[in-house]
Amino acid sequence: MPDDVDAILTRTGAYLQGHFLLSSGRHSSAYLQMALPFEHPADGEVLARALAERVRLRGLVPQTVVGPALGAIVPGYALASALGCRFLFTERGSDGRMALRRGFAVTEGECLLVCENTVTTGGSVREVLEVLRVAGGNVIGVAVFGDRSPDPMTVFDVPYVALKRVDFASWEQDNCPLCQAGVPVVSPGSRHLR
Ligand SMILES: [Zn+2]
Repeated sequence: MPDDVDAILTRTGAYLQGHFLLSSGRHSSAYLQMALPFEHPADGEVLARALAERVRLRGLVPQTVVGPALGAIVPGYALASALGCRFLFTERGSDGRMALRRGFAVTEGECLLVCENTVTTGGSVREVLEVLRVAGGNVIGVAVFGDRSPDPMTVFDVPYVALKRVDFASWEQDNCPLCQAGVPVVSPGSRHLR
């Protein structure tokens, strides 16, 4: 199963190694864009089943998966499908506040697994944890497809499962060692043109 995951990440361009211009304008030696494998539902389902297996191995049995819009809607739905449970998403309103909207609700003590597409700082996931706890939910863990966090063990206060962890540096162009070494820089969005 892990071989399938890595093959899909490579084939879809979700995980690349080289010299990249990120959307932030910084340069990096790797690139992770976990939306790409979900272009084709069959690929996304393989990743979701692999993450669901890790959730089960960790002993986590959620009643409901909850993810923040927009990035976690499709991956979270796929994970919920693989786990055989229901799926809700949180979203930011015009007031900027993350909340359960559209009539979504959790019951007191409901076992919830928070899902995110890719975690970097973990900030939006922590907002979701807070929203769900205030609503009375029992958050039993966090499951992510991509992990770019500096130290995953300290990011959250609940059990944490990641499908693909990558740890790579990024630099301003002026300080980029790959530029200094003369390696051509690539914009990952141009992959379809190659
Ligand atoms: Zn560079």
